Amino acid sequence: AASRLSVPAGADFVATSGGPLPCHRVIVVDDDPVVRRQMTLLLSSLGVRQVVALEGAEIALAEIARGGGEHDLLITDLNMPGTDGIEFLRRLAENGYRGCLVLASGVEDMILQTAADLARAKGLSLRGTLKKPATGDALLQLLKASCKKSMIQVPSSDGIKPSPADILEGIHRDEFDLHFQPKVDAATLRVVGVEALARWRHNGKLVSPDAFISTAEQHNLIGELSQLLLTKALLGGAHLSKAGFPLFIAVNLSANWLTDIQLPEFVFATLQATGFPADRLILEITETGVMADITTALDVLTRLRLKGFKLSIDDFGVGYSSMEQLQRLPFNELKLDRSFVHGASEKPVSRAILASSIEMARKLNLSTVAEGVEKQADLDLLRGLGCDLVQGWLVAKAMPLEELLEWLQTRGSL
Ligand code: C2E
Ligand code: CA
Ligand code: CA
Repeated sequence: AASRLSVPAGADFVATSGGPLPCHRVIVVDDDPVVRRQMTLLLSSLGVRQVVALEGAEIALAEIARGGGEHDLLITDLNMPGTDGIEFLRRLAENGYRGCLVLASGVEDMILQTAADLARAKGLSLRGTLKKPATGDALLQLLKASCKKSMIQVPSSDGIKPSPADILEGIHRDEFDLHFQPKVDAATLRVVGVEALARWRHNGKLVSPDAFISTAEQHNLIGELSQLLLTKALLGGAHLSKAGFPLFIAVNLSANWLTDIQLPEFVFATLQATGFPADRLILEITETGVMADITTALDVLTRLRLKGFKLSIDDFGVGYSSMEQLQRLPFNELKLDRSFVHGASEKPVSRAILASSIEMARKLNLSTVAEGVEKQADLDLLRGLGCDLVQGWLVAKAMPLEELLEWLQTRGSL
């Protein structure tokens, strides 16, 4: 059977055996040849039909690109010469890797845990972590968790992977809408604003943005979709104001759109058309996006600020943040990513990241928002650290406009 498989250049082993698991293949990335050999033998003995063991991230990226990645289970070491494990995770996310992922390492639990949080935050389908040296039992567990179900399907919210044509049709049928999630003062829980989050009513289901935003971005549909969503967000904001709730409206801005030099004018025109005040609009931009084309982005961002909008750095801590870049970019707010917020009261590493991020924000005069607050203990921690605003299921989930109005009314004054 091995002869039917194409052996990638640089692979140490391509093992085959006719086991019962429906795994298409498992890719092991480790710079240590002994680990590669051991893992390959173990995996083959557990019934994995195809194991590819590779010595580094670059060669693995090429191999994944060749096969499309969807049916792969990738087990990677974190500590490698050249492109290290963290850099590898970033590149995988950038390349839209859709297979499963397991992090293996001999390093301390804490580092492994932080890397795992990072992988999840980047949207990779992480199936677990593996301490080296791996035992047969651990690998078997891992295969059970990874191969049976998710190896074959695309890991999107409800298994839906819409095509660009579906999205276009959805736009024309007006199937896209927004849910709003309250942002509240950490100390008093007073509602300060709401974040508008995209939703798609598609074939009787509510599809979450993770399943369609990246497709829309890749196929040049994000401009059209964003214009529509921005208009709806501002109409919603104007409606809330009329109902007696003059809240800030935060809108997520796709990084792709930031390179559109017309963007500030478009946003301004939409504000004028909807009557929503410029100084109550917050544009949330993910760090990673900003850094891609820094000159155009800087131009656009500065003009957005000149028009009076507030700018927020989204998913802070996940991308490449450097003091220098933060100082150059005209932001008002820093949003701490939920991968660091959730469970931070029990995770010393997350707590340290939160503390230093909040401290840095204070020095740069940025207000801080923690997203994904689900537990009272995490809220207490954030209050103690001096975080300004919080957002999360502990307070409220994102909801349709009418529901939000009811929620605001039953809550009483702002
Ligand atoms: P994000 O900007 O980081 O938004 C926060 C996400 O966390 C939302 O997911 C929200 O529903 C979820 N969330 C809020 N509180 C909690 C909590 O306590 N626990 C947990 N587990 N999750 C919580 P959602 O709505 O699925 O959005 C996912 C991402 O899609 C957003 O991440 C944002 O990057 C993107 N997105 C959403 N709407 C738009 C949009 O209109 N345009 C663009 N370009 N991107 C959007
Ligand atoms: Ca956001
Ligand atoms: Ca986030």
